[in-house]
Amino acid sequence: MEIDPGAKRAIFDAVASLEAEAEAMLADLVRFPSTLGNEGPCLDHVARLFAALGAEVRRIPTDPEALAGHPGFSPPLISYAGRDNVAALHVPRGGGGRSLCLQAHLDVVPEGAAELWTSLPFEPQIREGRLYGRGAGDMKAGLVSNIMAIRALRLVGLAPAAPVQLQAVVEEECTGNGALATMLAMPKPDAVIIPEPGPGFPAVYSAEVGVVWAWVTVLGRPAHVREMQAGVNAIEAAMAVVARFKDYENEMNRAERIHPLFRGVNHPVNVNLGTVEGGEWNSSVPSRARIGLRIGVMVGRTAAETRRDIERIVAEAAADPALRGARLSLSWGGFMADPCLFDMDAPIVAVARACYAEATGGSLRSYPATGLTDGRFFALYQGTPVAVFGPEADRIHGIDESVRLSSMHAITRTLALTIAAWCGTERA
Ligand SMILES: [Zn+2]
Repeated sequence: MEIDPGAKRAIFDAVASLEAEAEAMLADLVRFPSTLGNEGPCLDHVARLFAALGAEVRRIPTDPEALAGHPGFSPPLISYAGRDNVAALHVPRGGGGRSLCLQAHLDVVPEGAAELWTSLPFEPQIREGRLYGRGAGDMKAGLVSNIMAIRALRLVGLAPAAPVQLQAVVEEECTGNGALATMLAMPKPDAVIIPEPGPGFPAVYSAEVGVVWAWVTVLGRPAHVREMQAGVNAIEAAMAVVARFKDYENEMNRAERIHPLFRGVNHPVNVNLGTVEGGEWNSSVPSRARIGLRIGVMVGRTAAETRRDIERIVAEAAADPALRGARLSLSWGGFMADPCLFDMDAPIVAVARACYAEATGGSLRSYPATGLTDGRFFALYQGTPVAVFGPEADRIHGIDESVRLSSMHAITRTLALTIAAWCGTERA
Protein backbone atom coordinates (compact mmCIF):
# COMPACT_ATOMS: atom_id res chain seq x y z
CA MET A 1 0.00 0.00 0.00
CA GLU A 2 1.37 3.40 -0.96
CA ILE A 3 1.33 6.23 1.53
CA ASP A 4 0.80 9.63 0.00
CA PRO A 5 3.78 11.97 0.35
CA GLY A 6 1.81 14.49 2.41
CA ALA A 7 0.83 11.91 5.00
CA LYS A 8 4.38 10.58 5.09
CA ARG A 9 5.80 14.04 5.73
CA ALA A 10 3.19 14.64 8.45
CA ILE A 11 4.10 11.32 10.14
CA PHE A 12 7.81 12.15 10.10
CA ASP A 13 7.10 15.63 11.51
CA ALA A 14 5.01 14.05 14.25
CA VAL A 15 7.81 11.63 15.20
CA ALA A 16 10.23 14.59 15.27
CA SER A 17 7.91 16.56 17.56
CA LEU A 18 7.83 13.59 19.95
CA GLU A 19 11.61 13.12 20.16
CA ALA A 20 12.11 14.79 23.55
CA GLU A 21 9.18 12.87 24.99
CA ALA A 22 10.52 9.61 23.57
CA GLU A 23 13.94 10.19 25.10
CA ALA A 24 12.37 10.98 28.48
CA MET A 25 10.24 7.82 28.20
CA LEU A 26 13.35 5.76 27.51
CA ALA A 27 15.21 7.28 30.47
CA ASP A 28 12.22 6.53 32.74
CA LEU A 29 12.17 2.91 31.55
CA VAL A 30 15.92 2.45 32.06
CA ARG A 31 15.55 3.67 35.66
CA PHE A 32 13.57 0.50 36.44
CA PRO A 33 16.10 -2.25 37.25
CA SER A 34 13.86 -4.83 35.60
CA THR A 35 16.13 -7.83 36.04
CA LEU A 36 14.72 -11.33 36.55
CA GLY A 37 12.17 -11.25 39.37
CA ASN A 38 12.20 -7.44 39.56
CA GLU A 39 10.09 -6.59 36.50
CA GLY A 40 6.87 -5.80 38.43
CA PRO A 41 7.13 -2.00 38.74
CA CYS A 42 8.34 -1.66 35.14
CA LEU A 43 5.42 -3.78 33.91
CA ASP A 44 2.98 -1.55 35.81
CA HIS A 45 4.62 1.52 34.30
CA VAL A 46 4.33 0.11 30.77
CA ALA A 47 0.67 -0.78 31.42
CA ARG A 48 0.10 2.92 32.16
CA LEU A 49 1.92 3.95 28.97
CA PHE A 50 -0.22 1.55 26.93
CA ALA A 51 -3.40 2.79 28.63
CA ALA A 52 -2.43 6.38 27.77
CA LEU A 53 -2.67 5.41 24.10
CA GLY A 54 -6.36 4.79 24.66
CA ALA A 55 -5.93 1.08 24.07
CA GLU A 56 -7.56 -1.68 26.06
CA VAL A 57 -4.83 -3.08 28.35
CA ARG A 58 -4.63 -6.68 29.47
CA ARG A 59 -2.36 -8.30 32.05
CA ILE A 60 -1.37 -11.80 31.00
CA PRO A 61 -0.02 -14.24 33.58
CA THR A 62 2.71 -16.73 32.71
CA ASP A 63 1.32 -20.03 33.95
CA PRO A 64 3.99 -22.74 33.79
CA GLU A 65 1.46 -25.53 34.31
CA ALA A 66 -0.62 -24.37 31.36
CA LEU A 67 2.49 -23.96 29.17
CA ALA A 68 4.39 -27.08 30.21
CA GLY A 69 3.24 -29.23 27.28
CA HIS A 70 4.09 -26.59 24.66
CA PRO A 71 7.17 -27.31 22.51
CA GLY A 72 8.40 -23.72 23.07
CA PHE A 73 8.26 -23.91 26.86
CA SER A 74 11.47 -23.61 28.90
CA PRO A 75 11.89 -24.75 32.51
CA PRO A 76 11.34 -21.70 34.75
CA LEU A 77 13.94 -20.33 37.14
CA ILE A 78 11.61 -18.57 39.60
CA SER A 79 7.90 -18.00 40.33
CA TYR A 80 5.84 -15.83 37.98
CA ALA A 81 3.77 -14.20 40.74
CA GLY A 82 3.60 -10.42 40.43
CA ARG A 83 5.17 -10.36 36.96
CA ASP A 84 2.20 -10.53 34.58
CA ASN A 85 2.97 -9.52 31.00
CA VAL A 86 1.23 -6.51 29.46
CA ALA A 87 -0.65 -6.37 26.18
CA ALA A 88 -2.80 -3.74 24.54
CA LEU A 89 -5.13 -4.08 21.59
CA HIS A 90 -6.17 -1.33 19.21
CA VAL A 91 -9.46 -2.21 17.53
CA PRO A 92 -10.25 -0.23 14.37
CA ARG A 93 -13.70 1.22 13.69
CA GLY A 94 -13.71 -0.15 10.18
CA GLY A 95 -11.78 -3.12 8.92
CA GLY A 96 -10.01 -4.67 6.02
CA GLY A 97 -6.34 -4.03 6.66
CA ARG A 98 -3.77 -6.53 7.84
CA SER A 99 -3.29 -6.88 11.59
CA LEU A 100 0.04 -6.41 13.32
CA CYS A 101 1.73 -7.15 16.64
CA LEU A 102 4.50 -4.89 17.97
CA GLN A 103 6.34 -6.96 20.55
CA ALA A 104 9.09 -6.08 23.02
CA HIS A 105 10.58 -7.51 26.18
CA LEU A 106 11.22 -5.31 29.19
CA ASP A 107 13.37 -7.64 31.26
CA VAL A 108 17.08 -6.81 31.30
CA VAL A 109 20.17 -8.83 32.14
CA PRO A 110 22.11 -8.06 35.35
CA GLU A 111 24.32 -5.00 35.20
CA GLY A 112 27.56 -6.84 36.01
CA ALA A 113 30.31 -5.07 37.93
CA ALA A 114 28.81 -1.62 38.56
CA GLU A 115 32.27 -0.15 39.19
CA LEU A 116 33.16 -0.78 35.55
CA TRP A 117 30.34 1.46 34.29
CA THR A 118 31.19 5.06 33.34
CA SER A 119 27.79 6.12 34.71
CA LEU A 120 25.56 3.98 36.91
CA PRO A 121 23.68 1.28 34.98
CA PHE A 122 20.21 2.28 36.15
CA GLU A 123 20.82 6.04 36.14
CA PRO A 124 20.55 6.82 32.44
CA GLN A 125 22.91 9.39 31.02
CA ILE A 126 23.05 10.90 27.53
CA ARG A 127 26.52 11.40 26.08
CA GLU A 128 27.20 12.36 22.47
CA GLY A 129 23.78 11.35 21.22
CA ARG A 130 23.71 8.00 23.01
CA LEU A 131 21.68 7.04 26.06
CA TYR A 132 23.67 4.82 28.42
CA GLY A 133 22.14 2.34 30.85
CA ARG A 134 21.29 -1.31 31.23
CA GLY A 135 18.47 -2.22 28.89
CA ALA A 136 18.69 1.03 26.90
CA GLY A 137 19.40 -0.89 23.71
CA ASP A 138 18.14 -4.34 24.67
CA MET A 139 15.41 -3.41 24.27
CA LYS A 140 13.70 -0.53 26.00
CA ALA A 141 14.44 1.80 23.06
CA GLY A 142 12.51 -0.62 20.84
CA LEU A 143 9.61 -0.58 23.29
CA VAL A 144 9.60 3.24 23.13
CA SER A 145 9.55 3.08 19.33
CA ASN A 146 6.55 0.73 19.41
CA ILE A 147 4.61 3.18 21.60
CA MET A 148 5.74 6.36 19.85
CA ALA A 149 4.90 5.02 16.39
CA ILE A 150 1.25 4.75 17.47
CA ARG A 151 1.46 8.16 19.14
CA ALA A 152 2.83 9.76 15.98
CA LEU A 153 -0.03 8.41 13.89
CA ARG A 154 -2.51 9.75 16.44
CA LEU A 155 -0.85 13.13 16.32
CA VAL A 156 -1.62 13.43 12.61
CA GLY A 157 -5.19 12.26 13.17
CA LEU A 158 -4.69 8.69 11.98
CA ALA A 159 -5.24 5.28 13.54
CA PRO A 160 -4.43 1.83 12.15
CA ALA A 161 -7.29 0.45 10.05
CA ALA A 162 -6.60 -3.09 11.34
CA PRO A 163 -6.10 -4.53 14.82
CA VAL A 164 -2.71 -3.64 16.30
CA GLN A 165 -1.34 -5.30 19.41
CA LEU A 166 1.36 -4.02 21.69
CA GLN A 167 3.04 -6.65 23.84
CA ALA A 168 5.58 -6.10 26.62
CA VAL A 169 6.81 -9.33 28.14
CA VAL A 170 9.19 -10.80 30.72
CA GLU A 171 11.93 -13.42 30.51
CA GLU A 172 13.13 -12.92 26.94
CA GLU A 173 16.59 -13.13 28.47
CA CYS A 174 16.19 -16.51 30.17
CA THR A 175 13.20 -18.58 29.00
CA GLY A 176 10.89 -16.76 26.59
CA ASN A 177 7.94 -18.02 28.61
CA GLY A 178 6.49 -14.50 28.92
CA ALA A 179 6.36 -14.16 25.15
CA LEU A 180 4.89 -17.64 24.78
CA ALA A 181 2.12 -17.00 27.31
CA THR A 182 1.28 -13.64 25.76
CA MET A 183 1.28 -14.95 22.19
CA LEU A 184 -1.12 -17.75 23.17
CA ALA A 185 -3.45 -15.39 25.05
CA MET A 186 -3.79 -12.83 22.25
CA PRO A 187 -5.37 -13.11 18.80
CA LYS A 188 -3.06 -14.35 16.03
CA PRO A 189 -1.86 -11.33 14.04
CA ASP A 190 -0.96 -11.27 10.34
CA ALA A 191 2.61 -10.22 11.16
CA VAL A 192 4.91 -9.39 14.07
CA ILE A 193 7.62 -6.77 14.44
CA ILE A 194 10.17 -6.97 17.27
CA PRO A 195 12.52 -3.96 17.42
CA GLU A 196 15.47 -5.77 18.98
CA PRO A 197 18.83 -4.07 18.51
CA GLY A 198 20.82 -5.08 15.48
CA PRO A 199 24.41 -6.22 15.07
CA GLY A 200 25.95 -2.76 14.71
CA PHE A 201 24.74 -2.16 11.18
CA PRO A 202 21.12 -1.77 10.02
CA ALA A 203 19.77 -5.29 9.65
CA VAL A 204 16.76 -7.56 9.87
CA TYR A 205 17.28 -10.96 11.50
CA SER A 206 17.30 -13.78 8.94
CA ALA A 207 17.90 -16.54 11.49
CA GLU A 208 18.80 -17.07 15.11
CA VAL A 209 20.50 -19.89 16.96
CA GLY A 210 18.78 -21.85 19.69
CA VAL A 211 19.97 -21.87 23.28
CA VAL A 212 19.93 -24.43 26.10
CA TRP A 213 20.77 -23.57 29.68
CA ALA A 214 22.19 -26.37 31.80
CA TRP A 215 23.27 -26.52 35.43
CA VAL A 216 25.86 -29.01 36.65
CA THR A 217 26.31 -29.63 40.36
CA VAL A 218 29.50 -31.35 41.51
CA LEU A 219 29.86 -32.98 44.92
CA GLY A 220 33.46 -33.68 45.91
CA ARG A 221 34.88 -35.04 49.13
CA PRO A 222 35.81 -32.42 51.75
CA ALA A 223 39.13 -32.62 53.57
CA HIS A 224 41.54 -30.35 55.38
CA VAL A 225 44.15 -29.04 52.93
CA ARG A 226 46.83 -30.85 55.09
CA GLU A 227 45.56 -34.11 53.58
CA MET A 228 44.40 -32.55 50.34
CA GLN A 229 45.18 -35.75 48.42
CA ALA A 230 42.45 -37.55 50.40
CA GLY A 231 39.80 -35.10 49.20
CA VAL A 232 38.14 -34.56 45.86
CA ASN A 233 38.05 -30.90 44.91
CA ALA A 234 34.54 -30.12 43.62
CA ILE A 235 35.64 -26.88 41.96
CA GLU A 236 38.52 -28.53 40.11
CA ALA A 237 36.17 -31.32 39.04
CA ALA A 238 33.71 -28.69 37.76
CA MET A 239 36.51 -27.08 35.73
CA ALA A 240 37.21 -30.48 34.15
CA VAL A 241 33.54 -30.64 33.15
CA VAL A 242 33.81 -27.16 31.63
CA ALA A 243 36.80 -28.31 29.56
CA ARG A 244 34.62 -31.04 28.04
CA PHE A 245 32.01 -28.46 27.08
CA LYS A 246 34.71 -26.33 25.44
CA ASP A 247 35.70 -29.37 23.34
CA TYR A 248 32.03 -29.74 22.40
CA GLU A 249 31.91 -26.06 21.41
CA ASN A 250 34.88 -26.53 19.07
CA GLU A 251 33.23 -29.59 17.57
CA MET A 252 29.94 -27.73 17.00
CA ASN A 253 31.73 -24.89 15.19
CA ARG A 254 33.36 -27.16 12.61
CA ALA A 255 32.57 -25.85 9.14
CA GLU A 256 30.49 -28.85 8.07
CA ARG A 257 28.15 -28.37 11.04
CA ILE A 258 27.36 -24.74 10.23
CA HIS A 259 24.14 -23.87 8.42
CA PRO A 260 24.81 -22.05 5.10
CA LEU A 261 23.21 -18.84 6.42
CA PHE A 262 25.86 -18.70 9.16
CA ARG A 263 28.87 -19.30 6.90
CA GLY A 264 31.27 -16.44 7.37
CA VAL A 265 30.02 -15.75 10.90
CA ASN A 266 32.92 -16.08 13.29
CA HIS A 267 32.25 -18.82 15.86
CA PRO A 268 28.44 -18.91 15.68
CA VAL A 269 27.86 -21.64 18.30
CA ASN A 270 28.92 -20.40 21.70
CA VAL A 271 29.19 -22.20 25.02
CA ASN A 272 29.29 -19.68 27.84
CA LEU A 273 30.31 -20.56 31.37
CA GLY A 274 28.01 -17.95 32.89
CA THR A 275 27.93 -18.67 36.60
CA VAL A 276 30.11 -20.53 39.08
CA GLU A 277 29.45 -21.03 42.72
CA GLY A 278 31.08 -23.33 45.15
CA GLY A 279 33.54 -23.93 47.92
CA GLU A 280 33.29 -23.20 51.59
CA TRP A 281 36.64 -22.18 53.02
CA ASN A 282 40.11 -21.33 51.71
CA SER A 283 41.70 -24.05 53.84
CA SER A 284 39.16 -26.76 53.06
CA VAL A 285 38.90 -28.86 49.92
CA PRO A 286 35.56 -27.67 48.49
CA SER A 287 32.72 -30.18 48.76
CA ARG A 288 30.28 -28.59 46.35
CA ALA A 289 30.33 -26.53 43.17
CA ARG A 290 27.67 -25.55 40.66
CA ILE A 291 28.18 -24.19 37.19
CA GLY A 292 25.63 -22.59 34.87
CA LEU A 293 26.16 -23.01 31.15
CA ARG A 294 24.59 -21.48 28.05
CA ILE A 295 24.96 -23.71 25.01
CA GLY A 296 24.13 -22.48 21.51
CA VAL A 297 22.17 -24.63 19.05
CA MET A 298 22.96 -24.27 15.32
CA VAL A 299 20.10 -24.04 12.84
CA GLY A 300 19.41 -27.58 11.65
CA ARG A 301 19.67 -29.08 15.13
CA THR A 302 17.14 -28.95 17.97
CA ALA A 303 17.19 -28.03 21.63
CA ALA A 304 16.17 -31.64 22.42
CA GLU A 305 19.20 -33.02 20.55
CA THR A 306 21.45 -30.56 22.36
CA ARG A 307 19.94 -31.61 25.65
CA ARG A 308 20.88 -35.23 24.88
CA ASP A 309 24.43 -34.09 23.95
CA ILE A 310 24.71 -32.37 27.32
CA GLU A 311 23.46 -35.47 29.15
CA ARG A 312 26.08 -37.55 27.34
CA ILE A 313 28.92 -35.12 28.12
CA VAL A 314 28.06 -35.07 31.81
CA ALA A 315 27.72 -38.87 31.94
CA GLU A 316 31.12 -39.26 30.28
CA ALA A 317 32.67 -36.81 32.73
CA ALA A 318 31.15 -38.68 35.67
CA ALA A 319 32.79 -41.90 34.45
CA ASP A 320 36.21 -40.26 34.05
CA PRO A 321 38.66 -41.78 36.59
CA ALA A 322 40.42 -38.38 36.75
CA LEU A 323 37.41 -37.02 38.62
CA ARG A 324 38.10 -39.62 41.35
CA GLY A 325 34.52 -40.27 42.30
CA ALA A 326 33.19 -36.71 42.27
CA ARG A 327 29.41 -36.94 41.93
CA LEU A 328 27.84 -35.00 39.07
CA SER A 329 24.20 -34.09 38.65
CA LEU A 330 22.54 -32.18 35.86
CA SER A 331 19.47 -29.99 36.03
CA TRP A 332 17.52 -27.74 33.66
CA GLY A 333 16.33 -24.21 34.26
CA GLY A 334 16.15 -21.46 31.67
CA PHE A 335 16.30 -21.70 27.88
CA MET A 336 15.31 -24.86 26.06
CA ALA A 337 14.98 -22.91 22.83
CA ASP A 338 15.07 -24.16 19.26
CA PRO A 339 16.88 -22.23 16.55
CA CYS A 340 14.78 -20.46 13.97
CA LEU A 341 14.84 -19.24 10.38
CA PHE A 342 12.87 -16.10 9.59
CA ASP A 343 11.12 -15.88 6.22
CA MET A 344 12.95 -13.10 4.41
CA ASP A 345 10.40 -13.28 1.57
CA ALA A 346 7.49 -12.53 3.91
CA PRO A 347 5.46 -9.46 2.92
CA ILE A 348 6.05 -7.82 6.34
CA VAL A 349 9.81 -7.94 5.73
CA ALA A 350 9.39 -6.32 2.32
CA VAL A 351 7.16 -3.57 3.75
CA ALA A 352 9.49 -2.96 6.70
CA ARG A 353 12.51 -2.78 4.39
CA ALA A 354 10.76 -0.32 2.08
CA CYS A 355 9.63 1.83 5.01
CA TYR A 356 13.11 1.76 6.56
CA ALA A 357 14.52 3.04 3.28
CA GLU A 358 11.88 5.79 3.16
CA ALA A 359 12.50 6.75 6.78
CA THR A 360 16.28 6.70 6.80
CA GLY A 361 17.64 6.51 3.26
CA GLY A 362 19.49 3.37 4.34
CA SER A 363 18.77 -0.31 3.85
CA LEU A 364 18.36 -3.30 6.13
CA ARG A 365 20.81 -6.12 5.44
CA SER A 366 20.09 -9.70 6.48
CA TYR A 367 21.60 -10.80 9.76
CA PRO A 368 21.97 -14.37 11.05
CA ALA A 369 22.05 -13.91 14.83
CA THR A 370 24.20 -15.91 17.22
CA GLY A 371 21.81 -14.99 20.03
CA LEU A 372 18.07 -15.39 20.21
CA THR A 373 14.91 -13.30 20.47
CA ASP A 374 11.24 -13.94 21.19
CA GLY A 375 10.68 -14.02 17.43
CA ARG A 376 10.97 -17.82 17.34
CA PHE A 377 7.62 -18.31 19.07
CA PHE A 378 5.64 -16.56 16.33
CA ALA A 379 7.67 -18.10 13.49
CA LEU A 380 7.91 -21.68 14.79
CA TYR A 381 4.69 -22.21 16.71
CA GLN A 382 2.16 -19.72 15.32
CA GLY A 383 3.13 -19.58 11.66
CA THR A 384 3.22 -15.77 11.78
CA PRO A 385 5.91 -13.94 9.78
CA VAL A 386 8.27 -11.90 11.95
CA ALA A 387 10.49 -8.94 11.18
CA VAL A 388 13.14 -8.41 13.86
CA PHE A 389 15.04 -5.14 13.43
CA GLY A 390 15.73 -2.23 15.73
CA PRO A 391 17.87 0.68 16.84
CA GLU A 392 21.66 0.76 16.83
CA ALA A 393 22.84 -0.39 20.24
CA ASP A 394 26.28 -1.08 21.63
CA ARG A 395 27.56 -3.44 24.34
CA ILE A 396 24.23 -5.04 25.15
CA HIS A 397 24.72 -7.51 28.03
CA GLY A 398 28.08 -5.75 28.62
CA ILE A 399 29.38 -2.71 30.45
CA ASP A 400 28.30 0.78 29.28
CA GLU A 401 25.38 -0.49 27.20
CA SER A 402 23.99 2.31 25.06
CA VAL A 403 21.64 3.12 22.22
CA ARG A 404 21.99 5.83 19.60
CA LEU A 405 18.96 8.08 20.14
CA SER A 406 18.79 9.15 16.50
CA SER A 407 18.53 5.48 15.53
CA MET A 408 15.63 5.01 17.98
CA HIS A 409 13.80 7.89 16.28
CA ALA A 410 14.61 6.38 12.87
CA ILE A 411 13.03 3.10 13.98
CA THR A 412 9.98 5.00 15.28
CA ARG A 413 9.60 6.66 11.86
CA THR A 414 9.99 3.27 10.21
CA LEU A 415 7.39 1.64 12.45
CA ALA A 416 4.88 4.47 12.02
CA LEU A 417 5.18 4.19 8.24
CA THR A 418 5.08 0.40 8.36
CA ILE A 419 1.89 0.42 10.43
CA ALA A 420 0.30 2.83 7.96
CA ALA A 421 1.39 0.79 4.97
CA TRP A 422 0.61 -2.62 6.45
CA CYS A 423 -2.62 -1.95 8.33
CA GLY A 424 -3.93 1.00 6.35
CA THR A 425 -5.21 4.02 8.21
CA GLU A 426 -8.49 5.53 9.27
CA ARG A 427 -9.34 8.86 10.89
CA ALA A 428 -8.48 8.71 14.60
ZN1 LIG B 1 16.61 -8.39 23.68
